[in-house]
Amino acid sequence: MSEQEWVARAEAAYVGLAVGDALGATVEFMTPKEIAAAYGVHDSIRGGGWLRLRRGAVTDDTEMNLALGEAILERGGLDVWAVARAFDRWLRGKPVDVGHTVRRGIVHFRINGEPLVPYDSYAAGNGAAMRVLPVAIAAMGCDEGTVRAACRWQGRVTHHHPLSDAACEWLGIIAQRALAGASRAELLNGPVAQMVATHPEFAYTGRSCLNPSGYVVDTVVAVMQAFAQGRDFASTLIDVVNRGGDADTTGAISGMIAGAVYGSAAIPRRWLEALDQTVRRRCCEQARALAQLALEGRFRLFPLSGPAVTAKESGDYSSSS
Ligand code: MN
Ligand code: MN
Repeated sequence: MSEQEWVARAEAAYVGLAVGDALGATVEFMTPKEIAAAYGVHDSIRGGGWLRLRRGAVTDDTEMNLALGEAILERGGLDVWAVARAFDRWLRGKPVDVGHTVRRGIVHFRINGEPLVPYDSYAAGNGAAMRVLPVAIAAMGCDEGTVRAACRWQGRVTHHHPLSDAACEWLGIIAQRALAGASRAELLNGPVAQMVATHPEFAYTGRSCLNPSGYVVDTVVAVMQAFAQGRDFASTLIDVVNRGGDADTTGAISGMIAGAVYGSAAIPRRWLEALDQTVRRRCCEQARALAQLALEGRFRLFPLSGPAVTAKESGDYSSSS
């Protein structure tokens, strides 16, 4: 695959994520029945929803990706301090929506000055897994251990739970394989199957997943079911958002994967035109800038502590846990 081709896929993944967020936000927290009664099939970006959004507006799902991406560009890699500061800045801007666990993590940083949150058995929400794309793009070409560690550590700024860690790592790997040109079947038989083998919680066949909650297992299962059944970008996204529940987040993650797999030409023009054009431009620009970091081989995983970092500390930082 040429450089140009994967950079184009990175842009499609980023815009696809924003499109999925904008499409799903209208029906977030509705049941499939309520969606059917209101819209028949919900298949257009129309705003509204419980957040009373303008048509084309995105929510925290897209905004936190952009904030994380800015932190990566600012530092030339993943530095949890820069990530925590970027999330803090974002929260000060009074975003339209903030997840409970995300808010608590940012407040933890403000009060304690620590960029990582402690373990919490209730932190298995999808708020960290929804924002792996900037890491996946910027760390293209890095070894798998670095990619996994970077995906996991960006997550730990707000979520410290083994299922959130697992979803962050695997969605980052799946996104990278898609950017590298893997087909739907190759993804399902490769990293998606490996994810399910390692974490049976994420098994997505032989069960129904309607009205998925914000629990990261529900999110991953709904996304994988729609991806497995979809034939193109539009059918995948329409499937997942009409399941209702946390539809902007399942829409965003599905849009990332489907955008990378099917490319920008597969994203319906009516959705691209309805999307907030400033957001669309920012997603494209950031995708290209993050890809440039990867192409120059400059992505770094920064150590946690100050300047004097021993090899052991640095090794611990990037090892699996
Ligand atoms: Mn949202
Ligand atoms: Mn959501």
